[in-house]
Amino acid sequence: MSAVHLPRVGVLAIQGDYAAHAEALREADAEPVEIRLPQQLAGIDGLILPGGESTTILRFLEKNDFFAQLKEFCSSSPVFGTCAGAILLSRAVRNPGQESVGALDAVAERNAYGRQIDSAILTAETELPGGPLEMVFIRAPRLIELGSGVEGLAKRGNDPVLGREGKVMAATFHPELSVDRRVHKYFVDSVICRR
Ligand code: GLN
Repeated sequence: MSAVHLPRVGVLAIQGDYAAHAEALREADAEPVEIRLPQQLAGIDGLILPGGESTTILRFLEKNDFFAQLKEFCSSSPVFGTCAGAILLSRAVRNPGQESVGALDAVAERNAYGRQIDSAILTAETELPGGPLEMVFIRAPRLIELGSGVEGLAKRGNDPVLGREGKVMAATFHPELSVDRRVHKYFVDSVICRR
């Protein structure tokens, strides 16, 4: 496939592990675009909100009308939030509360796993084809009070950790830190379908 035809997928490049997402997108046959300004949202087919520190990312978004324009983008285009990104996409945030985009019908409870298990690498069943999936959790949130439109694609115990609601996807783990590219491919496919 020529580079001209690859979907252009933005990665919010304010803070966190956006470089690993850009690499993962390349491996999933998309063209990554680092997004640092709200006007850059106009040129992309989809967007990843990476993990990091959601409060820090939010503080940057409060400048230059970025938050409002991101909210607008998330209401009309495919978006994928991982860890802190999933927190930012949720309808409400707890522990402590903070502002959020509200594109995903779920409540995010930050740092929801006790101190000793707040970071872990687990392998669990997934609805994605290809067998069990490795999942890297780093001070992960828990998604609770999910709306009926949210489809669960993987779980950690009883907690949904990978979900999709139409064009919005969320993972409470870091798929960009595993070698397996199925999660990014799944998102890129959803971007291609909506182009
Ligand atoms: N604990 C972070 C937060 O609350 C998220 C951690 C992560 O993205 N790895 O924003």
